[in-house]
Amino acid sequence: MKHGKCPKCGSKQIMTDVEVRDDGRSSSHPLKVLVHEPEPPSHGRIWIQGSSAGELSACICAKCGYTELYTNNLSELYTSYTKR
Ligand SMILES: [Zn+2]
Repeated sequence: MKHGKCPKCGSKQIMTDVEVRDDGRSSSHPLKVLVHEPEPPSHGRIWIQGSSAGELSACICAKCGYTELYTNNLSELYTSYTKR
């Protein structure tokens, strides 16, 4: 769908890279996926859990509303994911 055609209705009226936001109480933020890395077997007294985040963007058919979501920052996300 990213490259031009809706898989549901066949329309070529596609909106790409549309921001997806979470509407919070005081502000809104881009919606993200988050992959946490596991705690290593040994570490110092202070340890900060590793993680990677990717922002979501939408691809929307202007005819029927069918929507696909895409995530960016894929290589960092996958690196964190494979540590689990
Ligand atoms: Zn459509």
